[in-house]
Amino acid sequence: METKYDEELGIVIPPEQDCLVISSTGKAENTDVIARKPNPDRDNSDLPSSCRCDLDVVQYRLDSDPKKKITSVLQDKKGEEKDKNYYMEEIELHMKRTLKPAVLIWYLGHGGSETGSWCFRGGRITFTDVLHLYQQHFRSKLLTLIIDCPYAGNWGLSCVEEFDRMGIPACGHQAKRRGYMIKVFSSCHRDQIARELNYSVDSVRFKDDGLYFYAEKLPEGQKPFHLDFTKITCGQKPNAECKAPHDWRWKDLLSGNLSQRCYLVRGRDRDKPAWHYVVLHDEESIRTQFLERIQGGTIDVVNFGQVLASGWGTDPPKYIKALLPHF
Ligand SMILES: [Zn+2]
Repeated sequence: METKYDEELGIVIPPEQDCLVISSTGKAENTDVIARKPNPDRDNSDLPSSCRCDLDVVQYRLDSDPKKKITSVLQDKKGEEKDKNYYMEEIELHMKRTLKPAVLIWYLGHGGSETGSWCFRGGRITFTDVLHLYQQHFRSKLLTLIIDCPYAGNWGLSCVEEFDRMGIPACGHQAKRRGYMIKVFSSCHRDQIARELNYSVDSVRFKDDGLYFYAEKLPEGQKPFHLDFTKITCGQKPNAECKAPHDWRWKDLLSGNLSQRCYLVRGRDRDKPAWHYVVLHDEESIRTQFLERIQGGTIDVVNFGQVLASGWGTDPPKYIKALLPHF
């Protein structure tokens, strides 16, 4: 099946998705299992009366999108807790059974202290566990993870580490070529405790890009953290050849280091206005020389780095600006 892209944002548009919802609010056996903070004053009066708790809101959000179908809701209730293996098998079955080229897994509930791992009786599920299932059973298809638990932001960071460890350059072209199309949406940053109802009520609205709206900040400073690893960052169209240099790392994309190496150079070429996007070689001396040279006179940008894109006119098209390297 052909992968569709939002050309302005440079990200994969999810096709129809089968959705698995896992809610873990059972007994916290260990002190490092952190529950989300309750949120008794949360105003969800604009939601239907069927939305009595967070899990209801999650189901309502998914049901509201015709391209998402809930196939299973697993609730790890107090007194009926199941173990890690049970949930690993359910995730595996979810990937194996679906006939669709995309799945979504939404986890809400307890999170492991400092890790955001999904907590069950006798064990935790980490990003690496889910990645292994994806590699075995769902490779080259689209996996969307939505994680609403304390320290959830660690999931996106784990994906950054895994992709860098595997040597995948930081562009959606490269990830896709290696068989990875993954989006990780976390309800809070790596060092934050999520509150109940915050994310599902105020941050999640689905559109073609998977999630199109999220509050920048929620009560108590909770801040969602969304990383889309399908994002094209090399300034090329989705179906064009990738121009990301091999040393682009996802870690540098996230920290902004890559965008600091990229420059838009406006000038004249054969007497006509022209622009070039160039990524400088990763050396301080090159950068210093480049910054001196662009102050005036002529410059041959290929001497300083790799040209990602060029064109005539004073400004590049809008989509090029959006594709520049940032998450
Ligand atoms: Zn690329």
